[in-house]
Amino acid sequence: MNIAKNLELLCRTIPARVKVIVVSKTQKPETLMEAYNAGHRFFGENKVQELAFKASALPPDIQWHFIGHLQTNKVRMIAPFIHMIHGIDSMKLLKEVDKEAGKTGRVIPCLLQLHIASEETKFGLDIQEAFQILESPEYRAMRNIRIHGLMGMATYTEDENLIRKEFGSLRNDFIKIKAAFFPSDDDFRELSMGMSGDYMIAIEEGSTMIRIGTAIFGERPKPITPAA
Ligand SMILES: *Cc1c(COP(=O)(O)O)cnc(C)c1O
Repeated sequence: MNIAKNLELLCRTIPARVKVIVVSKTQKPETLMEAYNAGHRFFGENKVQELAFKASALPPDIQWHFIGHLQTNKVRMIAPFIHMIHGIDSMKLLKEVDKEAGKTGRVIPCLLQLHIASEETKFGLDIQEAFQILESPEYRAMRNIRIHGLMGMATYTEDENLIRKEFGSLRNDFIKIKAAFFPSDDDFRELSMGMSGDYMIAIEEGSTMIRIGTAIFGERPKPITPAA
């Protein structure tokens, strides 16, 4: 795998306004450094322990994005340094992020994760739940989080029409939420959608951040599991 070359090809095929989050989960620090040395500074991880280790071992100018399902009891470990949390999927989690961010004197940028896939398994809020959070007095009282936009994952399928429909529905949700709660807030501008298999469709549907692993690094190494 030529990581620098893959990144160069990727960046050449997408509009300059779209940010690439290099999804480095399960990859070794040396492998991340190949992307770093090619000029990339936005990295995405989905396990708290692994992220905390990599953040301590790698250069401090990396901006770390948490992209997976985050458990409330683990927020504390990443609150001091995380650049953005993409997967806010409950009021309980948002409250915890606000609390832990407050303890470290930070304001943490967050994205609300909306459930757009027809698959049952993916996490995320529906649009009514997102409205409920944003209308609530509790949310309005939060001083240590800032909602920068939405994140979503399409169904894992070959059916491009379905993927396009799902990303299109997320873009529509973005427009509705923007109009209702953030009409003059320039911070609310990110739409994190698109992975290796579907980022071209996501960009056509308005993505501003794509989260790419396999197309940069090749097939992911399996996490190490204890011998039986
Ligand atoms: C692993 C992961 C990605 C990247 O997936 P690839 O198909 O390897 O590009 C993107 N987003 C989330 C939330 C992930 O967990």
